[in-house]
Amino acid sequence: MTFHRADVIIDLAAIAANIATLKERAGVPVLAVVKADAYGHGLVAVAQTAIDAGAQWLGVALLEEALAIRESGITAPTIAWLVPPGSDFVSAINANIDLGVASLEIFHEICEAAVRLGKQARIHIEVDTGMTRGGFLGEWESFLTALRKDSSLVEVVGLFSHFARADEPGQPQNAIQLKRFTEMSDDLNQMGIEPEFHHLSNSAATLIDASAHFDLVRTGIAMYGLTPDYAHLGSSHSLGLIPAMTLRAKLHVVKEVFAGTPVGYGAIASTMTDTKLGVVAIGYADGIPRIAQGAGVFVDGRRAPIIGRVSMDQFVVDLGPESEAKGGDWVTVFGKGFDGEYTADDWGVASSSINYEIVTRISPRVPRIYEPAPTLDIS
Ligand SMILES: *Cc1c(COP(=O)(O)O)cnc(C)c1O
Repeated sequence: MTFHRADVIIDLAAIAANIATLKERAGVPVLAVVKADAYGHGLVAVAQTAIDAGAQWLGVALLEEALAIRESGITAPTIAWLVPPGSDFVSAINANIDLGVASLEIFHEICEAAVRLGKQARIHIEVDTGMTRGGFLGEWESFLTALRKDSSLVEVVGLFSHFARADEPGQPQNAIQLKRFTEMSDDLNQMGIEPEFHHLSNSAATLIDASAHFDLVRTGIAMYGLTPDYAHLGSSHSLGLIPAMTLRAKLHVVKEVFAGTPVGYGAIASTMTDTKLGVVAIGYADGIPRIAQGAGVFVDGRRAPIIGRVSMDQFVVDLGPESEAKGGDWVTVFGKGFDGEYTADDWGVASSSINYEIVTRISPRVPRIYEPAPTLDIS
């Protein structure tokens, strides 16, 4: 018996179609970014779908995520790039996981693990070209010296960096980052090291800046069918992408109230007219942002906006006086948006946030359902 009061439906065919679209736009191999449980869509099901659809690489932040990919039986080249000192580099090298090298300290630990195993580590050198997070900046020269000394312990598979403002076409910082990337690449070449894969582009650069594609692009948000930046790049639909995640919930209670009825904690809103209210069985413990105002649900072919503050397990919507919705009916919290339902973009705007945060924050309390079924056993 299964009863869900809320669930997430993942359209794996949409993910496959988006990968095909991105592959075509990129003209170079695609690395599918599946960190954070594939942006909330489910790590293993999405990783396998992406590979089946033509992605040649997988990328994650954490080593745990990469190891979970290997445990599922997926053997495609996989890189983990957020591997702080103290990470289990022995297990990583054993499992054929490529490692991002973001500092000298990390490089030294990876080399130690390689010595212990008697096996070369596959690394991708991360350079800081202007994002100012991980990657070599001031340590670059001392890293090159260390690399010269220990070059037999590692196979330099890649050189990579990350854009800070790729979603802003024409922004001068992008050209500066591109130039620095090329210069640091030249430094390596002068040492006789020529990695097979130079990679710099995220989804936004994949979609709009062919000069930054190099040998591989790392696409995250776009493979899930979502725009990297609604304001600068337009909607998911305008980019030819198909949103893969639909969040549904059931109406718990429907009730008629008079105009002027205050709703929810703090009574921050009251009904404007006599109307019907719907109590939706999902709340901030499930990942609905508590501050959301201006989004809502789609039911009976129309939008019903949030009224009052989002609670832990529920929120209230104004269904309108004519609504025929009743307790137990499914409502769409967000979805593809093709029929007028709210989208993850709408919820991002309603929460002073972005679609990335909306899809990644849906909690494990909400079951994921795959349509069509995944090709790998993910139980
Ligand atoms: C998350 C991430 C990406 C993917 O970014 P999108 O904007 O989702 O395409 C690419 N590269 C790195 C290093 C990342 O951390």
